[in-house]
Amino acid sequence: MAIIRKSAAEIAAMREAGRINALALQAVCDAVKPGVSTRELDAIAAQVLRAHDAQPAFLGYPNNTFPGHPYPATINASINDELVHGIPGQRRLREGDILSVDCGTTWEGVIGDSAVTVAVGAISEAAQRLIEVTREALRLAIDACRPGNRLGDVSASIQEWVEGQGYQVVREYTGHGVGYTMHEDPQIPNWGTRDRGAPLRPGMTLALEPMVTVGPADLFVKDDYWTVATRDGGLCAHFEHTIVITEDAPEILTLP
Ligand code: MG
Ligand code: MG
Repeated sequence: MAIIRKSAAEIAAMREAGRINALALQAVCDAVKPGVSTRELDAIAAQVLRAHDAQPAFLGYPNNTFPGHPYPATINASINDELVHGIPGQRRLREGDILSVDCGTTWEGVIGDSAVTVAVGAISEAAQRLIEVTREALRLAIDACRPGNRLGDVSASIQEWVEGQGYQVVREYTGHGVGYTMHEDPQIPNWGTRDRGAPLRPGMTLALEPMVTVGPADLFVKDDYWTVATRDGGLCAHFEHTIVITEDAPEILTLP
């Protein structure tokens, strides 16, 4: 495993990629309401990227499980029981849905990657609590990203919190190093053991992404070759930021 530590100039470029990515996500979230199609949301994100001379990092991304089916859109739009990799299309959002939007932006050759789960209109208390617990899992994971800690401390901080709240963490998909490619070393599972794994060092750029299910974290891929959903049809949520480890507190690179 080779974790690439970035220079100040590389981090500055990633900060701009992350900022543009955050602007795209924000524009999508601002447009979320009942009746909007996920294809319309995808067009909004694509427009923001174009306006900043940035490229969609997901578009054309190869499908490792089903070769010959590269990813066809700018964002992932995953609704309710869909966790990640939902392909935008004609489906329209409905009041009470929760929508997970993931976006990746390439700018000057480096990548920003972040995701949020948002409410469509008024949602159930159960859905709201799931979103809040998942958002907090990301905050805790970011807070664990300090020199002196190891990767296992980041993973464990997610798992301990999520399971303590009565939810499950997803095991098939993980956080990851990010920079010149979308998925660099290391993998960052959403479960793990404290004091294990690679030591965290300044300059490491990581995409942390807790994925949380209400029921069993048992997933399948739909017949569009991409959309990942829960087998039991239960709700799930996903939050993600790209961060850089510094000498003290981590810096979030995917802020508007
Ligand atoms: Mg992502
Ligand atoms: Mg990611």
